[in-house]
Amino acid sequence: MLYRQLLIVVAPLTFPVLPVAAQRPAADSTRAERERLVSMQLLPRGIRDSATLAAMHMVPRHEFVPAEARGLAYEDTPVPIGRGQTISQPYVVALMTELIRPRPGMRVLEVGTGSGYQAAVLAAAGARVWSIEIFEALAREAKDRLRRLGFTNVFVRHGDGYAGWPEEAPFDAIVVTAGADSIPPALVEQLAPGGRLVMPVGDPYTDQRLVLLEKDAAGRISSRELEPVRFVPLLRGVR
Ligand code: SAH
Repeated sequence: MLYRQLLIVVAPLTFPVLPVAAQRPAADSTRAERERLVSMQLLPRGIRDSATLAAMHMVPRHEFVPAEARGLAYEDTPVPIGRGQTISQPYVVALMTELIRPRPGMRVLEVGTGSGYQAAVLAAAGARVWSIEIFEALAREAKDRLRRLGFTNVFVRHGDGYAGWPEEAPFDAIVVTAGADSIPPALVEQLAPGGRLVMPVGDPYTDQRLVLLEKDAAGRISSRELEPVRFVPLLRGVR
């Protein structure tokens, strides 16, 4: 009896906060593909953060790749999304999510919306996400897709992410999903004390290293280089 009452109390509290996509009964085969993705691509490479793993399991990645590339949605590879851009390899999305230590309600800026997948994963891990995309068409498509899938905690804007999103700053974390030879100063400024920024830094046309920059409570900056990655370049000038 008590057990039954508990269920009735808990259910309305937990379900409404999940995106619509996660509330649907998961009768589809893609759920099994995501289980495999987590167990074959993420756990063996050391992704351990539970919010990150749950988000990777929840977000329907196949909705974020072009129809003709659906067969690649859960493969261990980046996938072209048009305009010369790509949705990153699942492991890299999970790594960047884990590195910012996602927690409920944190404010995250993403530069490089692309398909909207990284933003959706951050939101599914509990964050509120402000994401900027330099190609107008990609921004519009990502916004529509995220709305359709029920991600109400992601705000997409068309613009040049070099300048960040000053009206919404400061951010608890910043994720840059395109490479450049240095971190744009406006982004470091818009990071809150205690915040973390992750970005691929290096030659934007060849290889970069993932850099984790931290701002301590007193505003002091430290950074370290992590693993080698290959991202598309951070561009200048809106398109
Ligand atoms: N995070 C994306 C993939 C990123 S690909 C996803 O999950 O699908 C990098 C994206 O950054 C591309 O869509 C590219 O158009 C965008 N981009 C490049 N330079 C930018 C800039 N200066 N400001 C905002 N977006 C930029």
